[in-house]
Amino acid sequence: MKFVYNALPARIVFGQGSLAQLGSEVARLGAKRPVVVAGRHHAEAARALGMPAFTDAAMHTPVEVTDQAMAAIGDADCVVALGGGSAIGLAKAIALRTDLPQIAIPTTYAGSEVTPVLGQTEHGVKTTVRDQKVLPEVVIYDVALTLSLPRALSVTSGMNAMAHAVEALYSPDANPVIGAFAEQALAAFAHALPALVDDLADGEARGAALYGAWMAGSCLGSVGMGLHHKLCHVLGGSFGLPHSETHSVILPYATRFNASAAPDAMARIAHAIDAEDGDAANGLRALAEQLGAPLALRDLGLAETDLDRAADLATMTPYPNPRPVERTAIRALLADAWAGAWT
Ligand code: NAD
Repeated sequence: MKFVYNALPARIVFGQGSLAQLGSEVARLGAKRPVVVAGRHHAEAARALGMPAFTDAAMHTPVEVTDQAMAAIGDADCVVALGGGSAIGLAKAIALRTDLPQIAIPTTYAGSEVTPVLGQTEHGVKTTVRDQKVLPEVVIYDVALTLSLPRALSVTSGMNAMAHAVEALYSPDANPVIGAFAEQALAAFAHALPALVDDLADGEARGAALYGAWMAGSCLGSVGMGLHHKLCHVLGGSFGLPHSETHSVILPYATRFNASAAPDAMARIAHAIDAEDGDAANGLRALAEQLGAPLALRDLGLAETDLDRAADLATMTPYPNPRPVERTAIRALLADAWAGAWT
């Protein structure tokens, strides 16, 4: 066995009602003037935290929104992010400029709160920065905050997280610690998501899903991602497709594409999700169908005439991937994913 494991520092405060610990976590950081950043959906909840709030966080962290937030936060000495990847992205963008400590309070399963990565957009161009300054110092996972996640978003956000775990298992940086995280994440979501579809208020399933989100986010933060994430970045960045829905559609296709080149990872995925026929890709597709997740890119707004350009962009500068990323095969994968075909 040979590997490099680069542990990322984070203080994780997990549990039902853990938001009540926010005050003591702020004090623990020695901060006296915390501010909260959130999206409009969480504006009221942000103000209820009893600290100044900036509530205009937006998808893909536009630089002009960060400029406005910088002007609004004054001499704050700590940034609290309340919300999904968009709110957390804004706190990270502020931390990149100021190195202020962050407390992230995620309300989706996207996983950004445990990664040292920030994606931001300027003049419509998305760039990615990897910097320890953007890694939140503290994460408060409060299961209660996820109870309001609607059914569709619970499903797609969960599949978005599962994609981090799937790709961690065949990453060139794969290692035993992250492999164990990935398996736990996959098992947690495979168990929790069907239960959540039946009962959104199932506290035990909500807890398992949020735990899976932490594990999966840790995979994303620690090891490089492959073809699946490249395809989703192209489809989101260049064609404006919605983030978690796109991940849901692509995951079974990217997994099937890599199956022959990563048999050990496939066996671990299939086992973790308890795939009926022992096949990882079929198991993920069956799960997506069972959950009522979107199955076709055409339903997310991609035009068939965009497929050639998407294939060009996805193969121009591919991420490291177990199976070589070759244009004809990627064009075929995209055509299947566009139509939702699964044979
Ligand atoms: P998001 O934060 O935009 O949230 C999606 C939608 O869900 C929003 O409309 C939001 O208001 C709503 N929402 C969030 N929590 C809710 C709740 N508990 N109840 C009801 N509605 C709720 O999106 P996301 O999927 O969390 O994150 C996606 C964004 O994060 C993308 O911009 C993506 O690029 C970024 N991201 C970054 C990283 C990273 O490591 N840098 C990792 C994952 C995602």
